[in-house]
Amino acid sequence: MPAFPEAARKALADTQLRRNLAHATGTIRAKREAVVGEVAEWEELRLAGAAIKDNTLRRLDEHLLTLEASLQARGATVHWARDAAEACEIVARIAHGHGIDEVVKVKSMATQEIGLNEALAAHGVTAWETDLAELIVQLGDDLPSHILVPAIHRNRAEIREVFRRGMADAGRPAPPGLSDEPAELAAAARLHLREKFLRARMAVSGANFAVAESGTLVVVESEGNGRMCLTLPEVLVSVVGIEKVVPTFADLDVFLQLLPRSSTGERMNPYTSTWSGVTPGDGPQEMHVVLLDNGRTRALADEVGRQALRCIRCSACLNVCPVYERTGGHAYGSVYPGPIGAILNPLLKGVGVDEQTDSLPYASTLCGACFEACPVRIDIPEVLVHLRAKVVDAHREGVPKPEAVAMKSAAWLLSDARRLGLAERGLGVANRALTRFGRRVLPGGRRALGRLPWPGSLWTNARDLPAPPRESFRAWWRKGGRP
Ligand code: SF4
Repeated sequence: MPAFPEAARKALADTQLRRNLAHATGTIRAKREAVVGEVAEWEELRLAGAAIKDNTLRRLDEHLLTLEASLQARGATVHWARDAAEACEIVARIAHGHGIDEVVKVKSMATQEIGLNEALAAHGVTAWETDLAELIVQLGDDLPSHILVPAIHRNRAEIREVFRRGMADAGRPAPPGLSDEPAELAAAARLHLREKFLRARMAVSGANFAVAESGTLVVVESEGNGRMCLTLPEVLVSVVGIEKVVPTFADLDVFLQLLPRSSTGERMNPYTSTWSGVTPGDGPQEMHVVLLDNGRTRALADEVGRQALRCIRCSACLNVCPVYERTGGHAYGSVYPGPIGAILNPLLKGVGVDEQTDSLPYASTLCGACFEACPVRIDIPEVLVHLRAKVVDAHREGVPKPEAVAMKSAAWLLSDARRLGLAERGLGVANRALTRFGRRVLPGGRRALGRLPWPGSLWTNARDLPAPPRESFRAWWRKGGRP
């Protein structure tokens, strides 16, 4: 994947994409604001959510062992996966063990994170997404671009085309004469998926929460497709990030209030499925839980960054982010886009590993809207700044970057009053030059240059260069502070 600035430039040139995104995020944002505004104790709920997660993370090892014991006591098999390869291997082995070459899936970020569909395909097992938006992404041979609404970048007409072209290759074809009316599109998806629900012998899910004391997994969804996957097949495999554990059933109370209002802007989501182990003659007769690390213990070890593990994947931070709204999710090059992706990816993978991941902490204006919206109070701007420092530290060896040279020069200049005085006189000259040649006029009347030759163009590619003030602050002060 290209680094964020390059991918974002491509996305920004796509006006249809920007229109789709602005419409979708604006709609969800307004719905969320309205329903959050109805809850007088919203801030207390946020504080409670953050506290439960922090306390759990502090003793994560103990809670995970409790969860394992509770799950086993109820007849589930627990597997531990250090990374994506191990997790995929476990799921493929279970499928092969039952002679299964086709599975249905509930929407799951964890399985996308580990690339499960592709790994299963390599083992000869086809995985079918059953969430409507995921289905659109899969049939369109596309990538998800939003945590909650993976096909947010598509409009109705595009979805109709995806169905018309893709459904026949994947099972039941789209009905002839399919229009782009939402009800018709939903009905076509329902018919297409029903065949798969009734045929599949194995399902793969994630989990929004895993209750340690009772060994209960929880999936929260809107369409009912999850309920079908969780109840119809014989074998159910759930891939669960280790940060999803909550100690008690009572803790769920807080999150089931925070999550639907923050994600879909609903007071309560239509389907909340909970399951604990195996019940003879009812539902799946074999249950496996894969507890996934894949970088989470690395994130946990980061004192500032570990708060990202509180995330309940509601996507509220994406919908309020001015950067996400303009670029969409693909530019982040990960299944976790937007503000949470900008911190979670470097925390999970580590900084200094690849250019694309290192570019993500800079994919933000640091406006703070994400922190305001986050139902578990993750201070995303704080983590972004922390990760930027780590990225800079990781690249200190070798030839310094132009930015590092510029910062060192600025430090040298600003650390000496005489040098600063000389520079200020130079700025007066720059003011006269820029005022003369600057073609752009900024709000407030200052002239600015839109483009400098290289290496200055690295700065002005995305910014104007405003004319410095005619007079320095110190010169103004010496005159008694009069204009
Ligand atoms: S960081 Fe907060 S707002 Fe963003 S997805 Fe996670 S819980 Fe939601």
